Amino acid sequence: MSAETTFRRTKIIFTLGPATESEEMLEKMIRAGADIIRLNMAHAKHDWTRTVIRRVRAVSQRIGRDVAIMMDIKGPEIRTGDLDVPLELKAGEIFDFTVKPGAAAEPGGGGVEIRSVDVNYQDLVNDIKVGDTVLVDNGLLRLEVLTKDSARIRCRVLIAGELKSRRHINLPGVKVSLPSFTEKDRRDSIVGLEEGIDFLALSFVRMALDIEGLRDFLTLHKSKVRIIAKIEDQSAIANLDEIVAACDGLMVARGDLGIECPFEELPVIQRRAVRACLAQGRAVIVATHMLESMISQPVPTRAEITDVANAVYELADCVMLSGETTIGKYPLECVQMLDKISRRIEAEEADSGGREPAVFTGDRMKVLHSAVVLANEIPHSILLTFTRHGFMAQGLAALRPAHAPIIAFTPSAEVLRQLRLLRGVEPFLMPLASEPDITIENAITILRREHRIKPGDKLIVATDIVSQDRLVDSVQLRTVR
Ligand code: PEP
Repeated sequence: MSAETTFRRTKIIFTLGPATESEEMLEKMIRAGADIIRLNMAHAKHDWTRTVIRRVRAVSQRIGRDVAIMMDIKGPEIRTGDLDVPLELKAGEIFDFTVKPGAAAEPGGGGVEIRSVDVNYQDLVNDIKVGDTVLVDNGLLRLEVLTKDSARIRCRVLIAGELKSRRHINLPGVKVSLPSFTEKDRRDSIVGLEEGIDFLALSFVRMALDIEGLRDFLTLHKSKVRIIAKIEDQSAIANLDEIVAACDGLMVARGDLGIECPFEELPVIQRRAVRACLAQGRAVIVATHMLESMISQPVPTRAEITDVANAVYELADCVMLSGETTIGKYPLECVQMLDKISRRIEAEEADSGGREPAVFTGDRMKVLHSAVVLANEIPHSILLTFTRHGFMAQGLAALRPAHAPIIAFTPSAEVLRQLRLLRGVEPFLMPLASEPDITIENAITILRREHRIKPGDKLIVATDIVSQDRLVDSVQLRTVR
């Protein structure tokens, strides 16, 4: 049994919801190979959040597979207010979005009554310009801004439809000055930190400063939670490189991106985002609508299969499920489908030799690079590393070895769970001995016991060794006896 046939490199994230939150379903989803469970705080109450986090931990422990938990906080959201009855907006109609109480009653020119709805964001009138587009309810309604004053923006309806209460507003290309980490996000995050989450996904990140603010909050709470930046609008695309540099991982949140940007830009943005992450050694998640039709059908469309395959070909770290596993009828089949497609594409890519790893600056990355070059040259080899904080494994994963799995031993359960994010990394928990050689022997014993290695396998060990009382990064080639 060779390691590369038993191990999937691309990681699977699924969003927890009514379809998957039971203990029974959680067990099935984790056994099927889910790596990270996402909690979407746009729809979550705190009691539920605490209950399901504890349930995930209990199930993981019972079945001996520790998965990570990602809390996805909602971020700033502009919404319409309450309506007594839904409004049927007609194409060409003049319609007001009002930001001050009482502004609704004001008529248009010639005393014609103009219908309106409140918006929960006062500064909308400052952020928006005449000629901008307002999209409501996932872009179902489209309006163009004609005029504005301190109380309202007056629009013309371009795409007609029904406007219901509390609908989400998107403003393509508008620089919105709302804080990215809201009071609700702060309260949600504290619950997450108390319950021991592993990742925080920050919605609508527009610049590196948004991430630095969250990092300060985490430092204040003495938390080592990793930050995932969700890119969802045009500001994020303009500031992509600085956002990638500031985060621990990036999520290409294609749901909102597809509304905020021209749709034909979406594949271009995805590819650029994945490449930017590869260039800077950050993890990258491709999210939303991957198997959307499986919400109601047991098999995906051909286009969805190809979309998942494309993310794997692009060398993304993770693929993510949302509605498919919150409310879908076939959540388990979705995980199995991602697993199957990923393995097939990975085998294809390994056969074609993978890609030439990027060269990073810094001595440690150069040493890790030499380990990956060696692994790429030796068929069926396995990269083995030891990592207290996850950095050695992260460095190896960033170099995207062509076929060798990266087996990472860590003494920390927290780090083990965070390593679930990284492409090609298979984490194991083990205390590290003070003598590196003993640590390596202990790891080999565990891998033999787990049937992950067999005599004759080539191990490329990237680790630090003690030399004249100093730790020195090293690469060793060992054959399993
Ligand atoms: C998305 O927009 O694709 C996304 C993942 O974010 P959310 O589900 O929070 O809208």
